[in-house]
Amino acid sequence: MKVASVLIPLPVPEAFDYEVPEALSLANGDLARGDQVAVPLGPRLIRGVVSEVFETTGSNRRLKAIDSRLDDPPLPAGVMDFVEWAGRWTLSAPGEMAATALKGLRAPRPRPERRVRRVGERSPSRATPARTGVLEALGDRAMPPADLARAAGVSSGVVKGLIDEGVLEIIEIAAEAAFDRPDPDHAPAALNGDQAASATAMADGVSGGGFRPFLLDGVTGSGKTEAYLEAIARVLRADPAAQILILLPEIALTQALIERIAARFGAAPAEWHSGVAPPRRRQVWEAVVAGRCNIVVGARSALFLPFVNLCLIVVDEEHDGSFKQEEGLVYHGRDLAVARARIEGAAVILASATPSLETLWNAQSGRYDWLRLGARHGTAVLPDIALLDLRQNTPDPQTWLSQPLRLAIGETLARGEQTLLFLNRRGYAPVVLCRACGHRLTAPDTDSWLVEHRYTGRLVCHLTGFSMARPKLCPSCGAEDSLVSVGPGVERVEEEVRQLFPEARTAVFSSDTAPDARSARALIQKMTDGEIDILVATQAAAKGHNFPRLTLVGVVDADLGLRGGDLRAAERTYQLLAQATGRAGRADRPGRALLQTWTPEHPVLTALAAGDRDAFVEAEMAEREAASLPPYGRLAAIILSSENAAAVEKTANDLAQAIPNAERLEVYGPADAPLALVRGRRRKRLLVRADRDVNLQAFLRAWLQRVKVPGSVRLTVDVDPYSFL
Ligand code: ADP
Repeated sequence: MKVASVLIPLPVPEAFDYEVPEALSLANGDLARGDQVAVPLGPRLIRGVVSEVFETTGSNRRLKAIDSRLDDPPLPAGVMDFVEWAGRWTLSAPGEMAATALKGLRAPRPRPERRVRRVGERSPSRATPARTGVLEALGDRAMPPADLARAAGVSSGVVKGLIDEGVLEIIEIAAEAAFDRPDPDHAPAALNGDQAASATAMADGVSGGGFRPFLLDGVTGSGKTEAYLEAIARVLRADPAAQILILLPEIALTQALIERIAARFGAAPAEWHSGVAPPRRRQVWEAVVAGRCNIVVGARSALFLPFVNLCLIVVDEEHDGSFKQEEGLVYHGRDLAVARARIEGAAVILASATPSLETLWNAQSGRYDWLRLGARHGTAVLPDIALLDLRQNTPDPQTWLSQPLRLAIGETLARGEQTLLFLNRRGYAPVVLCRACGHRLTAPDTDSWLVEHRYTGRLVCHLTGFSMARPKLCPSCGAEDSLVSVGPGVERVEEEVRQLFPEARTAVFSSDTAPDARSARALIQKMTDGEIDILVATQAAAKGHNFPRLTLVGVVDADLGLRGGDLRAAERTYQLLAQATGRAGRADRPGRALLQTWTPEHPVLTALAAGDRDAFVEAEMAEREAASLPPYGRLAAIILSSENAAAVEKTANDLAQAIPNAERLEVYGPADAPLALVRGRRRKRLLVRADRDVNLQAFLRAWLQRVKVPGSVRLTVDVDPYSFL
C-alpha cells in the first residue's frame, strides 16, 4: 500500500499519514512531495501538503485516504526542505510553517477586469458622430468601458447604448499581474572602488553556485544598497530567470527601496508584507512559484514564498530586532534567511552599518565573507557626535532639552536646515502617578504602566493596547486632580519644541502618528521635501531613511536603552543611536549629532562619540565570551502562561523536575517573568544556556517530551530569544 505523510496547515505537532488511492497516481503521474492535496480531517476536507510518499506492506492502523490532488502548484523542494527545517529549529509544528508558506494562496484572486470589444462587424442601427467616434477609438481592441468613453470623449451612456444594442459586448479578463522583467542595464550607477569590489565579490559568489554568506559592512550612506543592487544586476545578466529576495525589517522602509529598484532596473519589484492587499499577495505568490517574478522586496514572512530559482537573499539592516517574530511562530528572520540560502544553495548578503554581534562573530571566524565599504560616498561625511553631559547642562524642571541642544536647534533652523529629535518613547508621558499616595497607574490585567497620550487624551498600555480615559480621581486613594505625568514621550518633547520655536514647522513621527505604510510614507515625503523643520521621532524614523536637508540629530535620552539591562541592551543602544545619528548630513551638508546623557562615561556612549565601533564590539564580545553568552553560547527560553496561576506553577515545577542530564548546559528558573501578568495570564520563564557544540534542540525536545502540559497552560519555546520579558 502507498502512504503519504501530509502536513496540515494547522497547529498540529506532526504530519498525518493517509492512504494514497491508486486512482490518484493514475490521473497525473505519481503523487510527490510538495503536492497539495485535500484530505479528510474529522468531518471536513482540509488542504494539506505532501511531505513524503512511501510504500508499506499493510499497516495495523486503518488509514483514511487522500480525497484528491488539488490543482494548485506544488510547493518547490526548497520550500519543503525549508519549512521542515524551520519547524525543527524553532520547535514548532511543521504544519504551521507550511501554513505560512501557503498564506498567499489562501487569499482571494483579484476580481476579473471588465472590458468591451466589438461583436463581429455589427454596426449600430443609428450612427451618430458620438457612436462612430467610440467605434473608431476602440478599433479591434478590448478596453475597459470607462477608458473607452474617455478616449472617445463621450459619456458612458453612449458606450452602454452600444452594448445594449449588441454592437459591443462585455468580456471578463482574469487580471493576471504583469511582473516586468528587470533590465540590469537600465540605469547603472558608477560605483566607487570599494563598492565595485564588493559587488563583484557578491556576484561571483552567486555565479560560483552553492551556499555563500556575506556580511556587507559599511557606515550609513557608504553605498551598501548601491553595491548590492549592482550585484543583483550582474546576477540577472548571467541568469535572466534568477530570483532575488530582499528582506527589510520594517514595512515603512519598503517604498523607498522599491522606487530605487524601479529606477535602477526600469521595473518595479514585487512587494510582500502584511500591508499588501490579499488579492495582490495571491498574484505575487503565483508569479513567484511560476518563476514570472524576479525580485521580491518584503518583510520576514517573504522567506516562505515558493521561489523556484532563488539565487540570492539580501537581509538589509540585518542587526534589526524587528526581524525577530515574537507572536505566533517565534523565529528570527535573519537566521532563517541564512538557513533558506543554505538549503537553496544560494548566496545571502547581510547588510548593516552596525552588524549584530552574532554576524560579526561569523565574519571574524571566517564563516561569512566580510566585505567592508569605507567612507560615505562622495563628499558626504559622517556627522560629528558630541555627548551633552546633563549633569552640567541640566534642563529646567519639566523640560527635556538642554541649553546647548536648544541653541543647536535654533542655529539649524536659522540656516534653513532640518533637525531630528530622537526619543524612543511613544506618547506624552511614560508614567502617570498620584502626587497624594504615590500610586502608579497600571493596566487592570497587565503588569505594565499606562502611558499618557495627549493627542487622544487616553492612557494606553503599549503591551496589550488597553486604553482608558485619564481619570479625574486617583483610582487608588480617590484624591482629586492629583495625577501627574512623569517623564517625556515624543508628544511632550514636541510640546516643548513648539513653545521654544513657534515659527518652526514641527511634527511627530511614531507608530501613533504613522500607524500604517501610507501615513509613514506621507510623513517621510514631507520631511524629504523640506516641509518639516523639526521632526520628533521614535525609532520609526531613525532607520534607513535619506533626508538630504537633515543636519542635526538630537538624542533626547541616550541612556534610555541602557537601563533595561538585558543581554543586548548595550548592543541595541549602540545600533539604534548609530542609526539615528547616521541620519544627519547625508548629502552635501555636514551634519552633527548631540547626545544628552547622565552617564557620558558609559562605554557605549564614549565609543559612539569617538566613532569607534571596533572598540565597542571588542569590549562587548569580551563580556559575552566571559559569560559564555551569545554569540559564544546559545540560549533558549521556555515561557509558560495561563489564567490559572496554580497550573502555571505546577507545570513550571514539573519542568524543573524533568530536566534531562546534559553537559555544558544550564537551566535557570523557573522564575516569574518580568512581565508576570499579561492580559490576566500569569507568566513564568525558564532559560537554557548551552555551549555552541551542544545540540540545543535535541535537548529541548527530550525535555518537553517528559512533561505533560495541561490544556490551560500555553508553553512557548523561544530559540535564541531577544526579549526577556
Ligand atoms: P547605504 O545603503 O550604505 O546607507 P546607499 O546605497 O543608500 O547607502 O547610498 C547613500 C546615498 O549615496 C544614496 O543617495 C546613494 O544614491 C548615494 N550613492 C552611493 N553610492 C553611489 C554611487 N556610486 N554613485 C552615485 N551615488 C551613490
